[in-house]
Amino acid sequence: MSCARQTTDGSCVDSHRHGWGYSLEDGPGTWFKLNQQYQLCKQGHHQSPINIHKDHIPSISDYQLSYQGYIHDVVDNEHTVEFDYEAGSSLILHGKEYQLKQFHFHSPSEHTVEGERYDMEIHFVHQNAKQKDLTVLAVLVKAGQENPLIQSLWTHLPQDKHKHHVFTNDHINVVDLIPDDLEAYYYHGSLTTPPCLETVSWLVLKETIEMSQKQLDYFHKFYNWNIRDLQAE
Ligand SMILES: [Zn+2]
Repeated sequence: MSCARQTTDGSCVDSHRHGWGYSLEDGPGTWFKLNQQYQLCKQGHHQSPINIHKDHIPSISDYQLSYQGYIHDVVDNEHTVEFDYEAGSSLILHGKEYQLKQFHFHSPSEHTVEGERYDMEIHFVHQNAKQKDLTVLAVLVKAGQENPLIQSLWTHLPQDKHKHHVFTNDHINVVDLIPDDLEAYYYHGSLTTPPCLETVSWLVLKETIEMSQKQLDYFHKFYNWNIRDLQAE
């Protein structure tokens, strides 16, 4: 068997182990071993997700969202489905502007609140143009009513890995996925995926949204249990 890639100490790395995932083989417990650049996944001190204790984590609502309905394309990156955004939507937190880059889904939720895990968590990823730090707005989802906006998003789930669907005429206003009440738990943490960089301001919304069990089940056909385990608060 040929060696697809050698590490600096000469040992062989299986070609399918270049990436990371959520299985026993390549899941969160192994990320730090998969790549030299993933060390923070084990050694970081402000890692996410966490169980939110209402008494420990402050909440804020003095930030502003300005979203337009311009999804650029959607891609299956093997870990989740990601809807990429055109420039022009932003979040302003403490006077600093973050551009909405993309949003994606985890199921079940990555964060828990007082030990309660939800059926899904949507991450709206915003980045500051200069400093490159991130603000992630997290929306927790419970099984319940069918969600019309999710229905139209799900029609665009890529059937093949790494295949893009480019949006042309679809105008989807994702602001409808954001609850009315913007009060959120606010803490400083990390990416919940490699390289686990600790450059994320988390806003976990207190108000939840709903989608039907059927809609959750459809997502699970593509991705199931794509979450990182809870980190020490
Ligand atoms: Zn995420």
